[in-house]
Amino acid sequence: MPKKRRSGGKTGSKKGRSELVSCSSCGKLVRREKAKKRTVYSSFVDYQIARELRAQGTRIPRVPTVKYYCVNCAVHRGIVHIRAKEERKKRE
Ligand SMILES: [Zn+2]
Repeated sequence: MPKKRRSGGKTGSKKGRSELVSCSSCGKLVRREKAKKRTVYSSFVDYQIARELRAQGTRIPRVPTVKYYCVNCAVHRGIVHIRAKEERKKRE
């Protein structure tokens, strides 16, 4: 059977089933290797104050927040894009 993608839409190794993560947007359970991972850095300090502090040479701690998105939400939010119509026919 022809494959749509060489990777099968997964990242990393070709191991079997992986653990489930919840989509940060819709809550759907997706396998970790198939979900789109995004790390967002946020700060407790207000943006404008942080900019002034940074100008004075202060180091402001940032808190990383890891978010997983299912493919539907990743496409909707512009994290990944679908290919053009002709491109989609290519099997890679
Ligand atoms: Zn989702």
